[in-house]
Amino acid sequence: MKLSEQAEDIIERLWIEVEEKGGAFMDLYALNLKPDDEPVKELIRNALAELRKGMLYIRPEGREVGRMTVRRHRLAERLMMDVFNIKGEDADFFACQFEHLLKDGVDVKLCTLLNHPETCPHGKPIPPGECCAEARKKGDLGVVPLTEFKSGQEGEIAYILTEDNKKMQKLMAMGVLPGNRIILVQAFPSYIFKVGFSEFAIDAALAREIFVRML
Ligand SMILES: [Zn+2]
Ligand SMILES: [Zn+2]
Repeated sequence: MKLSEQAEDIIERLWIEVEEKGGAFMDLYALNLKPDDEPVKELIRNALAELRKGMLYIRPEGREVGRMTVRRHRLAERLMMDVFNIKGEDADFFACQFEHLLKDGVDVKLCTLLNHPETCPHGKPIPPGECCAEARKKGDLGVVPLTEFKSGQEGEIAYILTEDNKKMQKLMAMGVLPGNRIILVQAFPSYIFKVGFSEFAIDAALAREIFVRML
């Protein structure tokens, strides 16, 4: 089933209303929607929701779809704020656009990149996916700051999280780039790591901004 973005946004709000706010339905008119609006009809046609007296009710089939839509939205929020470092209204705007792209396994990739986060930046729970349960079972730590590595541990650089352009350039000049292999040689008194054939020493503050995927 492929839903339009507008239909996804409605089922997302409906799910939050019912599952998190303890409501039973959503008042369409309060949302400036009408029963014969195409996205509303789409939800009804797909048996995800039903309409009674202008109120939209979620159907059992709609619960799972709504849950996954909320999951994608909150993962997108994490991506905007944690990785892209976009905050405030801009983050909300981009998250709302981006969530619709997180399909066909892209959500699993993003969830893994973000280390299967349990909450969104607003502290709301992210409904877990199968990838989260599996990672927990395997004790898979996914992506962590370099400071979590032990000496001798090898990983792949996932991303760099810094607001400082100079730091970013410094790291890039060392070859600290997404996809490159990195070995932590020593964690004390400074962090010494190897990328390619070169070794570099950095302080803990900078090491915390390098996110690596354990191998
Ligand atoms: Zn949120
Ligand atoms: Zn996950």
